[in-house]
Amino acid sequence: MTGAAAHPGLAGIGVGRRGVVGPVRHVRGGPELPADEPAPTDPEAAVARVEEALGDVRADLTARSEAAAGSTLGEVLGAAALMAGDPALAARAAELVRSGTGPAHAVHDAVEEFAATFESIGGYMAERVTDLRSVRDRVVARLTGQPEPGAELSEPAVVVARDLSPADTSALDLSLVLGIVTEEGGPTSHTAIIARQLGLPCVVRAAGATGLPDGGIVAVDAANGRVLLDPDDDVRREIEGRTAALDALESDREPGATSDGHAVQLLANIGTVEDAERAAATAAEGVGLFRTEVLFLDAAEAPTVEDQAEAYAAVLSAFSGRKVVVRTLDAGADKPLAFANQDDEDNPALGVRGYRLVRTMPDLVQDQLRALAQAREQAGEGAAELWVMAPMIATAAEAREFAAAAQEAGLQGAGVKVGVMVEVPGAALRAEGVLAEVDFGSLGTNDLAQYTMASDRLLGGLADLLDPWQPAVLDLVARTASAGVAAGKPVGVCGESAGDPLMALVLTGLGVTSLSMSTGALAEVRHALRSHTSAECEAMAQAALAAGDAGAAREAVARLLHADVREVLGI
Ligand code: PEP
Ligand code: MG
Repeated sequence: MTGAAAHPGLAGIGVGRRGVVGPVRHVRGGPELPADEPAPTDPEAAVARVEEALGDVRADLTARSEAAAGSTLGEVLGAAALMAGDPALAARAAELVRSGTGPAHAVHDAVEEFAATFESIGGYMAERVTDLRSVRDRVVARLTGQPEPGAELSEPAVVVARDLSPADTSALDLSLVLGIVTEEGGPTSHTAIIARQLGLPCVVRAAGATGLPDGGIVAVDAANGRVLLDPDDDVRREIEGRTAALDALESDREPGATSDGHAVQLLANIGTVEDAERAAATAAEGVGLFRTEVLFLDAAEAPTVEDQAEAYAAVLSAFSGRKVVVRTLDAGADKPLAFANQDDEDNPALGVRGYRLVRTMPDLVQDQLRALAQAREQAGEGAAELWVMAPMIATAAEAREFAAAAQEAGLQGAGVKVGVMVEVPGAALRAEGVLAEVDFGSLGTNDLAQYTMASDRLLGGLADLLDPWQPAVLDLVARTASAGVAAGKPVGVCGESAGDPLMALVLTGLGVTSLSMSTGALAEVRHALRSHTSAECEAMAQAALAAGDAGAAREAVARLLHADVREVLGI
């Protein structure tokens, strides 16, 4: 047990493995709703005030989104601006005002109605409720003359909040943010995504965080998912030492390999052209997962072939001389796209999503493949090698069909490979047949865990079942990896589990050929690999497979870890 874990404190879910010690600064919550807001005497004037406040908030969010253009933050702010400008929201608030509700309450009630709908849809939409409520708070603050939510930082601080919306984040001076602690949210919430991107120590779902004293000194220990008030010298030394050691690892830019030279490519997960440019400057050996749907989350209509080709060509050029694995649109369920939504599904996660879109919108799939072929030509000779894969493949027949479609679109010959994601248990169980149809496979362990354990990946309360260390999930990963070894075809992992250094060793021992992760995790995974032989990785894989449950698997592998690595990684 590490020093930090030996001390009591707030327990939550850590994002990354870094730690920091600093003063708490609370982010101001939403404004108070006036307790006795009278019915408007001039309803039309009140409606005009509501519309003006919504318009102002939209303009403000749009300006901030443009200032952060191209980044994930910019995109999410753009989505919040769209919510503020949603005519349906303004119409509902106006209706409430006209029926005698005060303007602040009208906005509040209208937003809550929308929030209830988002929550009932679940998944990605439910996680956007924080954004919707941040729009509400800004509008209500304007209508009632209260300060907008947020925090003005005058010195480096640990930001503490119930949850952070993108608008809250954009209002912070990020150069002064030492770490982030939230009471709510989850590993996939906006806060966690931004923290990961910025390499900030972060603990989410830390019950009691909003009760921490403002200005009090806390240690944020992401590796152990803990927040400690008034940490003693031992804790400080351990956290600061570990973080300094992690920073030192960043200077190693060698390709991924075990200590005896068994190569395992270390790749980056990206979603935008800007992500690609940032990742290209790191030691990533290429892109292992380009989530193309992220480019179009805000688009009302399907993008043209030309627009797509331009974005893809920019990514291929950014990674010239390396490789880029592009995933075709994974629309649906947790990643809804307005132009590809299936409206009438009771269970979207089990519905027409990912590659299945070919059943309802074949043109969309074909256009994207054509855009990729065009991007290759546009990017020219020295550009990255293009690997294209389809998400949510369930059968060998689908894999065959996708390979044929890619070939027909012109994706063939030297410098192109066609593959599939293995993230549906059916595909993992019949991995030999699926891989026989394509050049490579990539395990999406996020969805593989979701479908194997029948647990919604966005429900923080089911995190124990969604754990990629669950024996059933490990069995399917092992099965797929050995099918790849037997066929002599690359099988990588691009789910979050690839960025866990301990799991990375297990995956390597199972025969996985590449690991793709957020760039912040590359240095630790590289170090873990470099510190163990391939035989040791194999022994770890066997230990994990032999364990009876997820906790026992993790512990069994941790016991086999070299002591110096355990210390650096805080395991
Ligand atoms: C996965 O499912 O593991 C994966 C990498 O894809 P996504 O998270 O985008 O569904
Ligand atoms: Mg997936």
